[in-house]
Amino acid sequence: MSLWRRELWRLALLAGLGLLVGWPLGYAAPGLALGLALCLGYHLHQLRTLHRWLTHDSQSEPPAAAGLWGDLLDRLYRYQKGQRITQRRLLGILKRIQESSEAMRDSVVMLDRHGDMEWWNSAAESMLGLQAAHDRGHHITNLIRDPRFVDYFHRRDYREPLTLPSPIDERMMLQFQITLYGDDERLVMARDITRLHRLEEMRRDFVANVSHELRTPLTVLAGYLETYATYADQLPSRFARGLDRMQEQTTRMQNLVNDLLLLSRLETDRGGADHAPLAMPPLLESVRRDAEALSAGRQTIGVEVEEAVGLTGSEQEIRSALSNLAFNAVRYTPEGSHIMLRWAAHPEGACLEVADDGEGIDPVHIPRLTERFYRVDKGRSAATGGTGLGLAIVKHVLLRHDARLEIDSRPRQGATFRCIFPEARLAPVAATPPTETAGDGS
Ligand code: ADP
Repeated sequence: MSLWRRELWRLALLAGLGLLVGWPLGYAAPGLALGLALCLGYHLHQLRTLHRWLTHDSQSEPPAAAGLWGDLLDRLYRYQKGQRITQRRLLGILKRIQESSEAMRDSVVMLDRHGDMEWWNSAAESMLGLQAAHDRGHHITNLIRDPRFVDYFHRRDYREPLTLPSPIDERMMLQFQITLYGDDERLVMARDITRLHRLEEMRRDFVANVSHELRTPLTVLAGYLETYATYADQLPSRFARGLDRMQEQTTRMQNLVNDLLLLSRLETDRGGADHAPLAMPPLLESVRRDAEALSAGRQTIGVEVEEAVGLTGSEQEIRSALSNLAFNAVRYTPEGSHIMLRWAAHPEGACLEVADDGEGIDPVHIPRLTERFYRVDKGRSAATGGTGLGLAIVKHVLLRHDARLEIDSRPRQGATFRCIFPEARLAPVAATPPTETAGDGS
């Protein structure tokens, strides 16, 4: 018989007994009430025992009880025991995680879903200056107030790390990386990269200094070569032959030095000082004219403006990026190709595009194209007069304008280089009607 049914029988038995005793004496109803009261009294007693056990001593064995109450107490006891074991296991795991995070040399800060700091290791105290006594429960941006960190924190795009000086020591460089997990909680990690940063700085300074030092001797060489070239007809023929080659190579070295200096300036100086709203049509038109001069009629170069809005940026830098892309298109496409410079709307904002229908690039090379001195065809690139730094310059200019480069190309299907600018970079400028012009290549 089930426990529940037995309980019902007990109730019926007590009520029946009361009725049976009271009936012959003429007290049937009081007899029944007495039976029921006895039953109620029993249950109240068990309830009190349960309550006392739960509130005072629920970890000990439950009080002995029969029937449904005994089963209920047993189940509660087993459930509580299971809960305690799980809790102990979770606490053990948590402790081990905290101990391993504690042993890490990198800072680890755990934030709740609002961005308030819940826990951190001791490295975070020495690198970020967090203090257990004051800072627990405070929002992380109250402690790391650098606007670049605040912006990074709220952007919620944590694919790239952020490099910043430590809030307590300007000389210590930290690389921050945030990870989202659980219920919108965040883990902030900070790594000390001071040594790496110094090495990188030394490399940049070295390249910039060498390039700078090479400038003067190269100018002197180029000057003398130019003078000799004017008297080439008076030189013995075996010297005259080498003169052209020497001039060509000097120009190449000068271009290389200029590109290296531009690249190191783009890397070191923060930029932004000369940013202003730029009208794109005149810029595209002027780059088209320069590209046509380089092309000397071998390609057809056009301009399309499909977006009326302008761009906030440095005119010099945007011109340099666009010229690099346009000159590459001229250098790496065969005679008769079509090149289009385009300023158009894009789902993310707007895009500046240089598209050609030349030989294209094998997709295996695309991820590495913006690396310094990476060339698809080394022999051919050197012959075209490229320095190997063009796309690296484009990438740095775009980084300084919160933009990115997208390269779309297949062999024999042309190449499209797209500079995608975010909406925040767009700016209204004096209205210029959309134009479409195609150069005749002359
Ligand atoms: P380079 O000075 O060699 O032109 P870049 O960084 O400007 O250096 O370009 C890197 C490589 O990308 C080039 O060597 C070339 O092979 C390839 N490339 C760039 N633009 C194009 C294009 N429009 N069509 C085909 N290949 C291109």
